[in-house]
Amino acid sequence: GGDDAADRPERVPAGVDITVPSPARIYDFMLGGSHNFAVDREVAARASASSPVAAEMAVANRAFLARAVRTLLDAGIRQFLDLGSGIPTVGSVHEIARAEDPESRVVYVDHDRIAVAHGEQVLRGDDRAIALLADVRAPATVLAKAAATGLLDLDRPLGLLLVTTLHYVGDDAGPASIMRRYRTTLAPGSHLVLTHLTDEIRADEVAHTVELMRPGPSPVFARDRAAITALFGDFTLLGPGLVPATRWRPEPGTDVADPPILAGVAVAPGT
Ligand code: SAM
Repeated sequence: GGDDAADRPERVPAGVDITVPSPARIYDFMLGGSHNFAVDREVAARASASSPVAAEMAVANRAFLARAVRTLLDAGIRQFLDLGSGIPTVGSVHEIARAEDPESRVVYVDHDRIAVAHGEQVLRGDDRAIALLADVRAPATVLAKAAATGLLDLDRPLGLLLVTTLHYVGDDAGPASIMRRYRTTLAPGSHLVLTHLTDEIRADEVAHTVELMRPGPSPVFARDRAAITALFGDFTLLGPGLVPATRWRPEPGTDVADPPILAGVAVAPGT
């Protein structure tokens, strides 16, 4: 029914217009979250009617994120920097991390003001997680803001996540050099979790999606395996390497079609 909890006025952060669809809230809806409104759900319904790829990708991607964060927790990581986080709801990093260790700290970064506004609402009163407004393409600013929160110690191993974020960054911005800047800042033992849209899987559907999004506010760029591998630089990919997100250490019994998303987790050199 249209009058669910998400529509209650007190859930709308100040300055957020709920008559205009928001990509972050559409994504939240595809994940089964409650931070979305009728206008977002209409767009999501139309999008999934024309192509199921977006919703499939969102779910597969989020499930990978959970498996990756648990892997990092097993490796002793207790601080996370999540770049292009969207709204930190259903299956977010702080939820997963706290299930293992309530002391875990998480800094969420997004350049979408609306995603951050909802994030601030979700995290209000939380002293171990925060949502920051910043652009991934400006690593110096992102790192300075993240450090200034006091939640992260960049001299100790950290989990850096860019999960379905970098395919919004065009070649003009230099994704490889952006990633080099982040990698060189991380302490030995840090882990990089990264997924990226690829045109090496379901190429026609991906080309269609890229074409659809080109004129919009957030065009996407599919990249090949070599370009995505390069983003990990001198970090060592953990098994099974760079694979479709659903094939990265899947839970037993999962058997779903490969999404056009390559996923990997890599560890910083040195000890
Ligand atoms: N990481 C989450 C996940 O995988 O479930 C959310 C992914 S969502 C598809 C991509 C997010 O990246 C959006 O919230 C978008 O605003 C953000 N994003 C895209 N380009 C960005 C940039 N240059 N700086 C910061 N965030 C960016």
